Order: sequence, then structure tokens, then C-alpha cells
Amino acid sequence: MPVSTVSIAVGQWFTTGDAVRWWFDSGSFALDFAYTGPIGGLRADELLHAPDDLTQWLHERFPVAVGAARSRDLFDAIALRDAISRMALAASRDEALRAADIDLVNLYAATPDIPPSLAGGMMQAGRSVQTVPQALSTIARDAVDLFSPANAERIRCCSSDDCDVVYLDTSRAASRRWCSMQRCGNRAKVRAHRARKAVRVAA
Ligand SMILES: [Zn+2]
Repeated sequence: MPVSTVSIAVGQWFTTGDAVRWWFDSGSFALDFAYTGPIGGLRADELLHAPDDLTQWLHERFPVAVGAARSRDLFDAIALRDAISRMALAASRDEALRAADIDLVNLYAATPDIPPSLAGGMMQAGRSVQTVPQALSTIARDAVDLFSPANAERIRCCSSDDCDVVYLDTSRAASRRWCSMQRCGNRAKVRAHRARKAVRVAA
């Protein structure tokens, strides 16, 4: 039973080498955050160069107002994000997670997060603008959920030979194979179709 937290949409657009824009549903908000850095070959470099980059990402992804990030926040965010990235890669390879990374996620998760709230009331409960540390706590708490034993078999790498994208399979049957049907799934279908055709022609 996951305890209620602020509700955040998962998934983001990517434009990769072939200049095709495609939607990547990582299955997890914490994983979405991991993809602000170089993980899984989707982004060759760092997205969070300056505190303003972090401010913008949080602004785009959180449904509530979050204050401006400072240098210290950026430092914390990247430390948390890189721990989540290492853990996701390890989990996708069925390797043990590093205790130091687990400690880091737990540390951020132990601080106050962005509280959930119901619409329709008459008063503002708590602050009207949330802080960056609260946002990082929300991300860390989502990572606690992501790396819970229930998801152990569901953190996987895309089945395509030339793709290293890691995702959380949230499908009911745990049958997701691709980072995206549009990207790797269709390519695999085309290849399988060509292979079948080649066999028929040879026969
Ligand atoms: Zn893929």
C-alpha cells in the first residue's frame, strides 16, 4: 500500500540520434529524473548544468510551485540522481545495489516531501511555494518505491540489442519488452518480418 504523495505524471519526450521525437514512459518519476543525466544512451551529456536547469525541470514536472534552485540544491540533486541511475542500471542487470546509494536515497527520503492535497478547500495548508529539498525528497520517496522488492523483476533493459534504456515495467502482465513500441518495438517487428520473408524466399 503506497502511502499518498503528491501525484506526478510519468514520461517525457526524447529526440535521439535519428532526429525522431518519441515518448518515453520510464514507468517511474524517479527514473524520469535519472534521465536528466547520461544513462541508457538517451542523452549523451548532462541536462542539469546550472541551478536554473534544475529549477526549470522541477517547474515542468511538479504540479505545484517549487522555488528556485541554488548551487547547493543542484549538487544535492545530481548526487541523488546519480545514485538512482546506478541503482537502476544495477537492478536491470540483476546486480546488488550499492549500500552507499541506498543510504543516499534513504537520506533524502527522510526529509519532508511535497505534501499531497485535495482540491476544493478554502485555505492554503502549509507553504504556497514548495522548496527544492522537498521536491528532492518526493523524488527520493518515489525511488524507495521504485527499488522496493515488489519491483525487483520489473526494472529491465530494453530488449533491443542496440538499446540500453532502462525502464520500470508497470504492465499488468509484466510483459513490456521495449523502451518504446514506437522506437525499438517497431524496429524489432520490421526485422522479424524481414527475417520471416527471407526464410520463405529461401524455402
Ligand atoms: Zn529500446
